[in-house]
Amino acid sequence: MQAGGSAAEAKAVKSGTSRDAADLLENASTVVFVPGYGMAVAQAQHRVREIYDQLTKRGIDVKFAIHPVAGRMPGHMNVLLAEAEVPYDALIEMDDINHDLPQTDVVVVVGANDVVNPAARHDKASPIYGMPIIDADRAKSVIAIKRSMNPGFAGIENELYSADNTLMVFGDAKGVLGEIAKALAGES
Ligand code: NDP
Repeated sequence: MQAGGSAAEAKAVKSGTSRDAADLLENASTVVFVPGYGMAVAQAQHRVREIYDQLTKRGIDVKFAIHPVAGRMPGHMNVLLAEAEVPYDALIEMDDINHDLPQTDVVVVVGANDVVNPAARHDKASPIYGMPIIDADRAKSVIAIKRSMNPGFAGIENELYSADNTLMVFGDAKGVLGEIAKALAGES
């Protein structure tokens, strides 16, 4: 069934393990993290930094896509990533990173939801229609880390999670990212 059916239709999602996510990341040349409110709740920024270190050590290009209203206060993501000492020049504002996403191998969505919801681009009935988003869905592959299929702040479904190129890894962001970091470090 194509996307665009009734909201009541159950859409299939592909889910995988932290190991699956680590394999995808190891085989990428370019990776973009999209952090959101869930990264803040989980306090997962230090695990993100560990993965950044593991990937850049392998010569993989890693960037962070910063949406102006990701999280619950202006600059929320910048503050958390700075606390984890992610290099400032790896943080790229939404309008600049969107040009690169169609050529990006893997986007890792860490507890972000509304700010990567493609409905904002095309669904005139959506409460977020017209809101600028990070075009995560245009990357070659997407890893989306969250605990459930629950919606974000706007309370609406997100078709990104059932897209063919998306792998869901369910769990608390800190736990899942910690497992991915261990797998990349060869500790699991
Ligand atoms: P959202 O609120 O849209 O989504 C956050 C997601 O994080 C949820 O879907 C939730 O899914 C997941 N999550 C929560 N806890 C965890 C956890 N421990 N581990 C992993 N995932 C978790 O966040 P976005 O950042 O995408 O968007 C921000 C929203 O907040 C926008 O709608 C914006 O307009 C609004 N807003 C922003 C303000 C700002 O100044 N930045 C101010 C006021 C509102 P699950 O429960 O399944 O884990």
